[in-house]
Amino acid sequence: MKRLADKVALITGAGRGIGAAIAFAFAREGAAVVLAELDIETAERTAREIRAALGASASAIDTRGADKASEAKVLAVQTDVTQSASVQHAVSEAEHTFGALDVLVNNAGINVFCDPLTMTDDDWRRCFAVDLDGVWNGCRAVLPGMVERGAGSIVNIASTHAFKIIPGCFPYPVAKHGVLGLTRALGIEYAPRNVRVNAIAPGYIETQLTHDWWNEQADPAAAKQATLDLQPMKRIGRPEEVAMTAVFLASDEAPFINATCITVDGGRSALYHD
Ligand code: NDP
Repeated sequence: MKRLADKVALITGAGRGIGAAIAFAFAREGAAVVLAELDIETAERTAREIRAALGASASAIDTRGADKASEAKVLAVQTDVTQSASVQHAVSEAEHTFGALDVLVNNAGINVFCDPLTMTDDDWRRCFAVDLDGVWNGCRAVLPGMVERGAGSIVNIASTHAFKIIPGCFPYPVAKHGVLGLTRALGIEYAPRNVRVNAIAPGYIETQLTHDWWNEQADPAAAKQATLDLQPMKRIGRPEEVAMTAVFLASDEAPFINATCITVDGGRSALYHD
């Protein structure tokens, strides 16, 4: 029996990186997956890759086509998480195609790393719009249905920046602290209705986001090496390693895990110093 058999899951920012790895892992475990992504072309490409990767199962998995909706198990929907109407639309499309949502993964996020006093108002607003409002928009869109059905699992992708600070990375950690607060508040609020809300705090994970950050430094190769040197395991994580934790939290293997956060950082946040 697959671990997410018969479940319907929506993953934001699933076109690439951690979100795409989660979509792959969920589909492999039997879930119908909805890739809610800003860039529809990336989302559709990932949907095609999932279909190809699942080989023999491919006939049951397709991006949505007018005549294929009933058998599709992967759906790509253009979604901007900063707009509540856009997220609501994605949820409606998901439910129309596959039925009620069992799982939401709020993954979409952006790095906004500034010095506090030179940061612009726009930097502050776009950080919170994606990294915190986006998570709330997702929760608000799925909670009424989950509460009514008395079942659901929401997984918010936070960060080790949700409880640790690196100077010069403002206001990203402020928004990620908010994601943890939101996770705990909603987890408690809806626990009596059997809706679990949890977070995952990844450390350094090798995605486009990480490469972009290295490439912004004066010496990208040295910046990458410095990152690796900081890690107890002398490597950074892979998106699939975050996805495995998301599968667990989304599944029925975690029925009493609620309002908490699982850190996936190879032990980095436990390290005082070498
Ligand atoms: P990527 O930048 O590789 O992927 C993020 C995805 O989110 C992109 O596909 C992007 O689309 C999408 N996205 C951005 N803005 C929006 C929006 N407004 N609406 C819908 N989708 C959007 O990032 P990662 O995979 O690395 O990060 C995923 C999550 O994990 C983020 O929340 C991040 O903060 C968190 N995280 C990542 C870590 C890391 O080391 N990589 C560490 C800790 C946490 P587009 O390409 O079109 O912009």
